[in-house]
Amino acid sequence: MSEVKGAYNVCIIGGGITGTALAYSLCNLGETSVAVFEKSYLSSGSTGRCGGGIRQQWSTKNNVRLAMRSVELFEHFKEDVGTDIEYYQGGYLMLSYDEEEAKQFEKNVEIQREEGLDVEILTPKQVSERYPYINTKDLVLATFCQKDGHANPHKAVIGYAQAARRMGAKIYTHTEVLGIDVQNGKVVGVDTNQGYFKCDAVVNASGPWSKQVSQLVGVDLPTESYRHQIFVTEPLENFFPMMAISFAGNFYMRQAQHGQFIMGQGDKDEKPGINYNVTFKFEKELTVKMVELFPFLRNLRIMRHWSGMYNMSPDAQPIIGQSNIVNNYFYAVGYSGHGFMVAPAVTEALAELIVFGKATHTDISYLNVDRFANAEVEKEKNVV
Ligand SMILES: Cc1cc2nc3c(=O)[nH]c(=O)nc-3n(C[C@H](O)[C@H](O)[C@H](O)COP(=O)(O)OP(=O)(O)OC[C@H]3O[C@@H](n4cnc5c(N)ncnc54)[C@H](O)[C@@H]3O)c2cc1C
Repeated sequence: MSEVKGAYNVCIIGGGITGTALAYSLCNLGETSVAVFEKSYLSSGSTGRCGGGIRQQWSTKNNVRLAMRSVELFEHFKEDVGTDIEYYQGGYLMLSYDEEEAKQFEKNVEIQREEGLDVEILTPKQVSERYPYINTKDLVLATFCQKDGHANPHKAVIGYAQAARRMGAKIYTHTEVLGIDVQNGKVVGVDTNQGYFKCDAVVNASGPWSKQVSQLVGVDLPTESYRHQIFVTEPLENFFPMMAISFAGNFYMRQAQHGQFIMGQGDKDEKPGINYNVTFKFEKELTVKMVELFPFLRNLRIMRHWSGMYNMSPDAQPIIGQSNIVNNYFYAVGYSGHGFMVAPAVTEALAELIVFGKATHTDISYLNVDRFANAEVEKEKNVV
């Protein structure tokens, strides 16, 4: 064990949106003895590599509720947290090119409307009247929610970190957690490359490294990380307010505040493991597809292409909660491709669980890892 450098009630491993938002949420509840350990710089993991999309159009009631609470928090981010994160509610246009999927979209809209979400169902004709710059060939149906939107993930992380610091949290960057000290079934400290820190509770918010970090406590989490590539073009004048997304079409795209188009797609042939390389295959496949659907992209050049990791769970939904093996070990991982958008509500609820022993604002009990002990899990269908 290395030299003792400090003691905190709560030690958080990971300085992405989860770690920093959780530090902020804990401080908001009066728990200011909090440290965040980030092995690199803040936002260096999946958060700083993500598309920044924020939507509420999900296929299960619980996920719709979680996303709606997150949107409420994003709507007040500037006043509450104190940073402008380029949050813009330009809507999400969900495009379906598949008959079966379109039927599922209609069922999803019923669920979403029952939860009070204002969602429209659009025919291809309505889509082309509203967005004449989209090629609607082969489109079966679209849904649109104006209150969905996007934000700048770097600014969100920095905003949360600054607000948490102002309230007393400590944030240690370039500090890697190498070991977690478990004695008599309880975490008592974390060992880092900068020294040892005592603690009463530890939170795994390590994104792509969730499985390895959990192994430091001796708890197995069913997560795997998969590379996802993404690129950004040179800018055009702003005219494309929404995030356009298709699951059957396998793409998402939005225009950033400064005019660039950010877009990506999934690759079902990806193997699990950390891999930050980028491929020409990705650029070729995505550009051919996108130019056909969005002809105005034809002469735009790609400015930057990078990759990040989806930390996946078996049902493509986050794994959030408290371990029943090591009681003061908490986790918020396995978000698939939507951790940025749900992080405000997830961390609000997780902070309540840590401080009060119960989440009050949003139910997160359905996200506990124990759900995988049951044979049947309900897979979230709305993911790229
Ligand atoms: C290409 C792409 C597009 C995406 N688009 C969207 C989108 O539009 N909307 C959306 O909501 N989500 C999107 N996502 C998913 C989203 O990025 C993630 O779900 C989310 O950022 C997870 O945040 P996090 O804080 O949990 O993890 P991360 O941001 O990965 O943070 C974890 C941090 O933990 C640190 N860490 C790991 N191990 C240790 C250790 N031992 N010691 C100290 N620090 C450690 C890492 O360095 C990292 O910074 C996308 C992801 C990718 C890759």
